[in-house]
Amino acid sequence: MGERTLVLIKPDAVQRGLMGEIITRFEKCGLKIVAAKLVMATREKLDGHFHATDEWLRGIGVKTTEGCRKDGVDVEDVMGTTNPLEIGTKIMGQLYDYLMSGPMVVLVLQGIHAVNAVRKKVGYTIPSIAEPGTIRGDFSISSADLANVVGSPSRNLVHASSSVADAKLEIVNWFKDNEIIQWEKIDEGIMFVHGEYTQTKKGD
Ligand code: ADP
Repeated sequence: MGERTLVLIKPDAVQRGLMGEIITRFEKCGLKIVAAKLVMATREKLDGHFHATDEWLRGIGVKTTEGCRKDGVDVEDVMGTTNPLEIGTKIMGQLYDYLMSGPMVVLVLQGIHAVNAVRKKVGYTIPSIAEPGTIRGDFSISSADLANVVGSPSRNLVHASSSVADAKLEIVNWFKDNEIIQWEKIDEGIMFVHGEYTQTKKGD
């Protein structure tokens, strides 16, 4: 029922022992895990995951500029340019090394409005300005300037698909059809009010 979305629990989260905590957050809100595995990403897999168009790279550049402004630092000092496409391209180059630096957990989550619900729970890209209560806001303080001073992308723990269309492409990239399991969670009857769980008054 509902949508499916793809989540990567990135190497920093696995290394910091946060995979259980992160999965728990998704489980507790009622999302269903329909596929899961631990992987070492290859360059080919990441090529299949990111479709790095200029528009997407520019978007990363714009976010970086915004993150620097909110953290009170000059984007040109940090990135050596103010051009969003150049900034995005620079970050993209570092992103592969980060994602191949250790094991990741890949999940497919299923549920009502799963794509947007998961993005909200994951939070804003740059942890230093992500809202408290989100995974990135609660478990990291990595900032745009720190990330770029140390020459790495933001270690922000989690990736989540940004649209239903992206989720479909990402799921096919990481999982074969037969690795996605259809099963019924015991609380689905309560959440979605199947007949056997609805209460009737005594004597009805
Ligand atoms: P999101 O993961 O929130 O959808 P993007 O798709 O824009 O974000 O960026 C992909 C990844 O690139 C981010 O998750 C993060 O690891 C890295 N990244 C993006 N913007 C920055 C930035 N300004 N500084 C450092 N790393 C960044």
